[in-house]
Amino acid sequence: MGNDAPGPKLPLKLYVGDVVELKKPHPCGANEWEVIQLGMDIRLRCRRCGRVVAILRSRLERRIRRFVERPLDSRSTDLQPP
Ligand SMILES: [Zn+2]
Repeated sequence: MGNDAPGPKLPLKLYVGDVVELKKPHPCGANEWEVIQLGMDIRLRCRRCGRVVAILRSRLERRIRRFVERPLDSRSTDLQPP
């Protein structure tokens, strides 16, 4: 306790359609963002006002507080054919 574990950190699994809550809410008052595009930048759309933002993946991973909805992750626990 009290020290930062420098161990390997698993990359966060993100899928289009996931809804995340960030540590900092949008100025419109909402704090739910839907993932609409993956890549070097992750594109998120505010569920309330529809604003789209792009955030570097590494930066986003630190800003996510929790997942609100993970529609794809729940069904991809087993390997599935593409
Ligand atoms: Zn908003």
